[in-house]
Amino acid sequence: MKDYYAILGVSREATQEEIKRAYRKLALQYHPDRNPGDKAAEERFKEINEAYAVLSDPEKRAQYDRGLLGQPEYRAEDLFDLFAQVFGFRSPRAAPRGEDLEAEVEVELTDLLEGKEAEVVYARLVPCEACGGQGGKRVTCPTCGGRGVVETFRQGFFGGFVTRTTCPHCKGQGHLLAEACPTCHGRGRIPREERITVRIPPGMDEGHVLRVPGYGNLAPGGPGDLYVRLRVRPHPHLERQGADLVFRLRLGLAQAALGTRVEVPGLSGPIPLDIPPGTGHGEVFELPGEGLPHAGGRGRGALRVVVELSVPQKLSPRARELLRAYAEEVGEKVAPEGFWERVKGFFRK
Ligand SMILES: [Zn+2]
Ligand SMILES: [Zn+2]
Repeated sequence: MKDYYAILGVSREATQEEIKRAYRKLALQYHPDRNPGDKAAEERFKEINEAYAVLSDPEKRAQYDRGLLGQPEYRAEDLFDLFAQVFGFRSPRAAPRGEDLEAEVEVELTDLLEGKEAEVVYARLVPCEACGGQGGKRVTCPTCGGRGVVETFRQGFFGGFVTRTTCPHCKGQGHLLAEACPTCHGRGRIPREERITVRIPPGMDEGHVLRVPGYGNLAPGGPGDLYVRLRVRPHPHLERQGADLVFRLRLGLAQAALGTRVEVPGLSGPIPLDIPPGTGHGEVFELPGEGLPHAGGRGRGALRVVVELSVPQKLSPRARELLRAYAEEVGEKVAPEGFWERVKGFFRK
């Protein structure tokens, strides 16, 4: 078993801080980029990292001290990752997470009363089975030796420092494609149609976005998220205003003047409504509790019935006669019979 304390040049009682300090100094000194072609330095660099990997981990260190730790095996990439970690750069080798995706789901206005389980159909990228997500036959990038980064040691005022950049050759991948997989054309992922069921809570607004974690594109670093945007299909009779609904009720002249009983198409069925005599254009009847549920809250909004007077454009001779009699009765001045037929060029747009 190697003497990790000797490798780092610290005592067996060294604190974590002392171990780290010793590691930083030696790791920079023996870094392969600083000693190109020097096999001994490379070996030393590996040993230093291995020693630090064990001694910086209190559990491993305790095992090692009692002679219970077997010879650990570290891959070169892991040692470089450790180096990157200690020196504070995020390892570019860290596999990226899959991309987030957006999808839409369309529901009826009536679905928002109780909420709904809605099916979302969308496509996401999943690993290609033909190549196991590798994209084809891979070879280690010769520029960075598979590390995905190029490190350059520079001398500064207070000692050296290392600059680290993404390998321009392999774009940080650490490998190159020798032969592209014919199924995914080297991309390593293929689109697949997915169907998932999402729960639309009651009273949700048009355009509201539901986050479904883990349902985005798949990637080695984990899946992205799916964002489902809600669309509400327009209702044939009801307009939405937040939690309130608006129904435009068209009334004939006689209905407005004499009063009537109508049926309002409510979300959960027709609602009878008495229109008192003498109801004017634009008058509003409010039906509390007949709107949509307040999103995330208690109770429902109102259904507002807005009266729109409907003036007849075509009248039968008898209806015209009756309206004339009515006008005479209430003293309204109207055009004489046959007047409009005599106005040349008059027509209704
Ligand atoms: Zn490379
Ligand atoms: Zn493939």
